[in-house]
Amino acid sequence: MSKDCEGTLHPKAIEGMKLFNAGKFFEAHEELEIAWLAEKGNVRNLYRGILQVGVMYLHVTRGNYNGAVKLYERSMKWLKDWPDICRGIQVAELKSNAENLIKAIKILGAERIKEFDLSLLRPITWSEKRIWICDRCGTEMHEKNCKVSCPNCGNRFDCSDLNIYFD
Ligand SMILES: [Zn+2]
Repeated sequence: MSKDCEGTLHPKAIEGMKLFNAGKFFEAHEELEIAWLAEKGNVRNLYRGILQVGVMYLHVTRGNYNGAVKLYERSMKWLKDWPDICRGIQVAELKSNAENLIKAIKILGAERIKEFDLSLLRPITWSEKRIWICDRCGTEMHEKNCKVSCPNCGNRFDCSDLNIYFD
């Protein structure tokens, strides 16, 4: 499975995680579903697990106790076997965040679920692998400690000069 962690994230998975972190759990689910359906490799199950954590969060925010417990269990089935970090996503952190949330929900119970601590809705952390293409010769460039250089023509720049291109 660690082989499946090589490579970049599906753009819709990134969109989904951004929506997740913005608290838009329903919209996050829609984007992650596109990534899940589009992806043919095993990493689709990682996307599915993240999607289900988002639906769990959605159930929690809507006061749906049974839905939250069910989606927690379902999501862990898809997430349990992945390395702690996969394709730059902090999977172990996501699992422990979901676990802390469901523990608190179970203590509150169905009657008092709405009293849950909002700070338990933790965001997903990930880092995107950037691919740099040389603007002079079209070769894929190498990056080390923010120094980007072209192995073909020697073109180089510092990635901190280019923040304007990132959101
Ligand atoms: Zn070049």
